[in-house]
Amino acid sequence: MRAAFIHGIRDVRVGELPDAQPTETELLLKVSSVGICGSDLHYYLEGGIGRDRIRQPYVPGHEFCARVVDDRAEKFGLKKGQMVAVDPARPCYHCENCLAGHHNLCLNMVFRGAAPNTGAFTQYVTAPPTALFPIPDGISSEEVTMMEPLGIALATMDLGKIRLLEDVCVLGCGPIGLCIVQLAKLCGADHVYAIDPIPYRAEAARKLGADKAGGDHRQVMEWTGGRGVDICIEITDNGASFEQAGDVIRLGGRIILGGIPEGGRYTTESFDLRRKGATVKLVRRMGHVYPRCIRLVESKRIDIASIVTHKWELDDVKTAFDLQASRTDGVQKGVVFPNGMSYA
Ligand SMILES: [Zn+2]
Ligand SMILES: [Zn+2]
Repeated sequence: MRAAFIHGIRDVRVGELPDAQPTETELLLKVSSVGICGSDLHYYLEGGIGRDRIRQPYVPGHEFCARVVDDRAEKFGLKKGQMVAVDPARPCYHCENCLAGHHNLCLNMVFRGAAPNTGAFTQYVTAPPTALFPIPDGISSEEVTMMEPLGIALATMDLGKIRLLEDVCVLGCGPIGLCIVQLAKLCGADHVYAIDPIPYRAEAARKLGADKAGGDHRQVMEWTGGRGVDICIEITDNGASFEQAGDVIRLGGRIILGGIPEGGRYTTESFDLRRKGATVKLVRRMGHVYPRCIRLVESKRIDIASIVTHKWELDDVKTAFDLQASRTDGVQKGVVFPNGMSYA
């Protein structure tokens, strides 16, 4: 079957993978669409994420929609043809952290699409039923690819514990940032301020509910009359964003770091972070959040459809990665259809 392989920096090509073979405890799935994530772009632009480097060509992709095509579907309580969201994480369910309910921190985690594990930029995959979440009618294949970024956004909100009428700053208005802007409002935030240096991204945040949006984090201090926000949620690839978060919070404020800084490093001065007594938490993947994500979309409490801006065939994967990396043409989330756009 066909798949897109990242061979090295700025080198992604379609090649052949052996056919997917489910084990006794797995189901065969046909992939309809897969989103290009910021973490896929780290592999593509930097050859890895932090200390994890690509050592051999590998298939990326962990944000995807598929249909169950396995004849044994009923045995697992599913219907053949059913559209599903697939959690890319495979926790062990028996380590210390899994038993404590922290599946995102599983000691034996296997994560689909994190090198060297084969991801979803291919035609078929296999998965255990515990990773599958049936999608109700009325939700599109592209929206399902957004469930994973939405899941990260939701896990970020869970860490942030926003209280009613708190002021929130979101640094970074990519797909996850745009979910966070909407979720912050749902959580009862008073003002949501969104910052992104790329004008079309800041504008998208304003359209999706940010009270104010701009390109420079220092504007937040003007908007709050010099007080700063109660909580700053960072979701960028910019190593300077940690310091920026320290600049925009109030005394005693909280910071949630959700992004992956380019080159694997934050650059920060300690002054404001220390003087303000900042509480800092870091996001590591997401745990069991897909059911809530699906309900958020099904009940139309959140708009993820408008975040998907571009669609491509598998043969155009190089164009897709380059455009996604260039942050031009209004691109937010780009989605690739490994079995053709007619299979959605
Ligand atoms: Zn992702
Ligand atoms: Zn575990």
